[in-house]
Amino acid sequence: MAAKSEPTIGFVSLGCPKNLVDSERILTQLRAEGYGLSPSYQGADLVVVNTCGFIDAAVAESLDAIGEALHGNGRVIVTGCLGVREDEIRAAHPGVLAVTGPHDYEAVMAAVHAQLPAPHDPFTSLIPPQGIKLTPRHYAYLKISEGCNHRCSFCIIPSMRGDLVSRPVGEVLAEAERLVESGVRELLVVSQDTSAYGVDLKYRTDFWNGRPLATRLTTLARELGQLPAWTRLHYVYPYPHVDDLLPLMADGLILPYLDIPLQHGSERILRAMKRPAATEKVLSRIARWREICPELVLRSTFIVGFPGETEQDFDQLLEFIQQAQLDRVGCFAYSPVAGAAANALADPVPEEVKQDRLQRFMEIQADISRDKLAMQVGREMLVLIDEVQDGRMIARGPGDAPEVDGLVIIDGDWEDVGPGDFIEVLVTGYDEHDLFAEPV
Ligand code: SF4
Repeated sequence: MAAKSEPTIGFVSLGCPKNLVDSERILTQLRAEGYGLSPSYQGADLVVVNTCGFIDAAVAESLDAIGEALHGNGRVIVTGCLGVREDEIRAAHPGVLAVTGPHDYEAVMAAVHAQLPAPHDPFTSLIPPQGIKLTPRHYAYLKISEGCNHRCSFCIIPSMRGDLVSRPVGEVLAEAERLVESGVRELLVVSQDTSAYGVDLKYRTDFWNGRPLATRLTTLARELGQLPAWTRLHYVYPYPHVDDLLPLMADGLILPYLDIPLQHGSERILRAMKRPAATEKVLSRIARWREICPELVLRSTFIVGFPGETEQDFDQLLEFIQQAQLDRVGCFAYSPVAGAAANALADPVPEEVKQDRLQRFMEIQADISRDKLAMQVGREMLVLIDEVQDGRMIARGPGDAPEVDGLVIIDGDWEDVGPGDFIEVLVTGYDEHDLFAEPV
């Protein structure tokens, strides 16, 4: 908790894990400069709100959060994705002190300095070398790049965050190593487009621990696999070189887990989305991946009710998910995002049709996910403990990313086992989302 004499900042972080990493960086910089952090509006000299602007609901949530901070504190600086829509923010909340855009750390720090000069006390400037983390101590998001070179028609991220900018591999590995040394047991690799890592740098060679390494996803994954922590890959666009990751998974270097946003199963709709449209190829690649690594757990997200989606397109999507047999699936009814190219497409799908399709999709996928969980019963697996509460241990297995996937619930607690410990369990049961297990 901040000492009374130091200038103190309240911080609100909204949105996706990539935004969370931005928040962690800003907080780290604030602490490095000697600012105190306050968990309440009243205890802060000013509040920074790191916003999300991905869909209309997120915009509304961000505007609400700004209003709440203004009401609770009165002095508010806005940053993050919604920051690119400054006029909208100022129209809703004319009282904000400053508005800065996404991943613009210098601009947000400059706005803080202008309102609340940094103290000059070397003792308050001491921060742990791994920085400030907003996740529990035992897992951390590792952001490897910013921005995206794709132009999916439903998405405005490239217009907010710009084209792909990768961090050199040595810098990413140094951060990963610091995190693991500070107690992190699971690294969650995130970016807008993880597979494209290094393309912008032409896979330039960088150095880590005196060794030359290419700034390339396979190289990064292999090196992360040497650290004593789990490595889980998110937002992997299905480029051909993703195939090279499967042997690393089969060898146990990185988790046998791929989070691949596939979005649809109809080639016509995929083309309208400006996504690669090779559904058959994706199915045969999934089959090949499973041959190489039978333990592979696949997570994906889909959109139903995209403009122009016919009943036939939707049937193709259902056929696709039945064939693909994905383990974890999120599905959203299409909702227009201000500024997205897809808004200009013909034949919007009526809301009730979208909702009906969403429900039909989820019913089919729920059966698939349940069958997948049922197949785990009787297996032994290594799990990472997240929490111990009420005589139970709440853990996750290799197939469960935090926040989005299921849990492994273990009856009983052991005195010397706590969050961040790995234990071996035997899976004894399942429900719609979670597994139940007992220690081996
Ligand atoms: S890959 Fe498509 S959906 Fe993902 S950030 Fe890039 S443009 Fe947006």
